Amino acid sequence: MGMGYTFRCCGCGYELEAYMGGGFLLPSVTEKTIQELKSGKYGETAKNFFEENPDGTADCRNELFRCKKCGFLKVDMSLDLYKRKEGVSEPDYLFPDEDYFCKSMELDHICERCGSKMEKQNVDRFLKKVLDGKIRCPDCGGYLELGSLSNWD
Ligand SMILES: [Zn+2]
Ligand SMILES: [Zn+2]
Repeated sequence: MGMGYTFRCCGCGYELEAYMGGGFLLPSVTEKTIQELKSGKYGETAKNFFEENPDGTADCRNELFRCKKCGFLKVDMSLDLYKRKEGVSEPDYLFPDEDYFCKSMELDHICERCGSKMEKQNVDRFLKKVLDGKIRCPDCGGYLELGSLSNWD
């Protein structure tokens, strides 16, 4: 259900293992994360969203984020918040399928290194940039290379 990539810097040994997508644990991860969002663990914005939309859901698939300012890279849950479409009421259906849900808002992802906002990356485009030697290592400023690829489930 997901793809794994390793990004590596030959200059300093930096390595990031990025497992993108969902995996077989996604339903239970989604359920747990929604409870945490409702409890305020991810901030007031998400908490308020679920107070207004108790039957909404969150996209808990992994995405790659990159800091606009310092280039720090992180794999994190997307946490885009989805409202249920009107007239759709399957109570146990949590995956943000667009037949049932529409995207309402995206939560900010803040860089743990410099405090700036991180930007969600389109993985295909990011891979191409890495292969073209255009993505700098967040640690030393050299260029990242693509390591091994793997499927995961
Ligand atoms: Zn940063
Ligand atoms: Zn480096």
